[in-house]
Amino acid sequence: MEFSELGINEKVLKAISELGYEQSTPIQEQVIPHIIADAGDLVALAQTGTGKTAAFGLPLLEKIKPEEKYTQVLILCPTRELCLQSYNFLVSYAKYLKKIKIVAVYGGVGIQQQISELKSGVHIIVATPGRLLDLMKRNIADISRINYFVLDEADIMLDMGFKDELDAIFVESGVHRQVLLFSATMPAEVAAIASGYMKNPAEIVIGGKNAGTDTIEHKYFMVHARDKYLALKRLVDFHPEIYGIIFCRTRISTQEIAEKMIKDGYDAEALHGDLSQVQREYVMQKFREKNIQLLIATDVAARGLDVDDLTHIIHYDLPDKSEIYSHRSGRTGRIGRKGISYAIINLKEKNKLKYIERFIKREITEAKVPGGREICEHQLMHLIDRAKTVKVDYEQIAPYMPVIEEKLASLDREELLQHFVSLEFNRFLTYYKNSKDLSPVLSRDNSRERSRDLSRDKSRDRNRDRSRDNSRDGRQRSSKNEDSTQFLDLSINLGKQDRITPPDLIGLINQSTRSRHIKIGRIDINMNTSRIQIEESSFNEVVEALDDFTFKNRKIQIKIEGNTRGKKNERKARTRRQAARKKKKKDSSYS
Ligand code: AMP
Repeated sequence: MEFSELGINEKVLKAISELGYEQSTPIQEQVIPHIIADAGDLVALAQTGTGKTAAFGLPLLEKIKPEEKYTQVLILCPTRELCLQSYNFLVSYAKYLKKIKIVAVYGGVGIQQQISELKSGVHIIVATPGRLLDLMKRNIADISRINYFVLDEADIMLDMGFKDELDAIFVESGVHRQVLLFSATMPAEVAAIASGYMKNPAEIVIGGKNAGTDTIEHKYFMVHARDKYLALKRLVDFHPEIYGIIFCRTRISTQEIAEKMIKDGYDAEALHGDLSQVQREYVMQKFREKNIQLLIATDVAARGLDVDDLTHIIHYDLPDKSEIYSHRSGRTGRIGRKGISYAIINLKEKNKLKYIERFIKREITEAKVPGGREICEHQLMHLIDRAKTVKVDYEQIAPYMPVIEEKLASLDREELLQHFVSLEFNRFLTYYKNSKDLSPVLSRDNSRERSRDLSRDKSRDRNRDRSRDNSRDGRQRSSKNEDSTQFLDLSINLGKQDRITPPDLIGLINQSTRSRHIKIGRIDINMNTSRIQIEESSFNEVVEALDDFTFKNRKIQIKIEGNTRGKKNERKARTRRQAARKKKKKDSSYS
């Protein structure tokens, strides 16, 4: 439908046509007339990326009386990124409505600028809950006369724990306002807001309640936890044109995966809450401009990112809540485009998927992580396609052609092609040579075997997979084989009777060496001792560090399994320790 048919005025029509909006989206077709007609409170259930900011923003601009200098519209958003995003959209929609004043107020930045903007009189406040309340308490923001109260991404707002702030803001917002609530999902907390603060709200549902967008294909890949990173790399390698977000659950894992990917030569960056606002904006800008292909992000940090044409969403960690899965996946397949959502899961996460499927009312189909051969074929075809379609600047190349021809004269056409292809392609062939199948073998329902496997997966997850193939060759992806790390065995005097767990042992190594980058292989915990595989190149460092270390008031004793180099080290460390003890004794006898 044309926007002019929806009752939008000429000046706004001009601004949105400059933004490239030609036809309205389904949510706009339903929400715009509702607001224009002042038809009362509204609950609109729609995924992000359906055009909801314009759905409420465009008609609300029609409703502002610029000559009245009080705040008439409040738009509440969960994060500062979303707040800024909505603010920027509104400002661009109001480009030719010079008298309308819009301000964004959000935390994490100085408050003074926001105070002076509010004092000068604003018609629309776009805010995050905490900062708005602060400004209300200082009597700077006055929302008592607002006519429209928009709650954007209400489910996220409640998920982030803003219930108390919302209650306080509702109380101050007068009684004559219309409440327009937008949410991707309708959990009980959102329903409670609707029933507590809204009067007979109309309900608009785009794409079915809690349903994922139709254009998204959902797949999952089951691997051992230790192979998750390898699986991620294979999926990325299988899709050379990927432009997507990889979601991790914690800031630490986000940073770790991003660092590994960057080391391995991928165009990737991390986006999480430990970065400063400036850093986050810089990363988002780079991603928007497609200067990076992959963003490794936490859910909250990725909220503020407005990118329409993502090809893939990868759930490196499944989220705890199905709503979050739905939000994440909704970032691809936007505005009718095709999108792909991949979940990399380990054995015990299968059940979670069932809940998610029920929630999104869509099947998540199992797929196999591509094998080395398939990846190489894909990459090769991609390379050929690129070569075929690359724009050739004949004029610029012309002066060099005689020399090039002379240099390559000894190669016939077939050899030339072979050389040219190998130039780019050798690294994939080398890397994927002898690559293994990553699908876990679940032949018998042997639960003991399976649970042992799971606990081992847990312990190695953060370490072993990170240990593989971290070298970088300039900007090129590493060509080291997937399974090239050499490990040596170390035995330590802590075991089941000390209630030691694999994560404890990993922590012990990280703490004693003050490094998180030591590659750890297999861990076996026996009754009194544990055996740990340490990468050969860091073995000496670990032996020395552990030998002087205490764990829960117990002196750690190590024993080197098998190899002589290791034994020499153990002896050296022991001599050093004895010398230190003697010195200590001597010092104390003088004092
Ligand atoms: P939103 O759901 O508000 O986050 O919007 C998602 C994206 O869709 C934004 O980049 C908008 O600029 C864009 N958009 C919104 N409405 C339209 C439209 N009618 N035509 C084209 N793009 C739109």
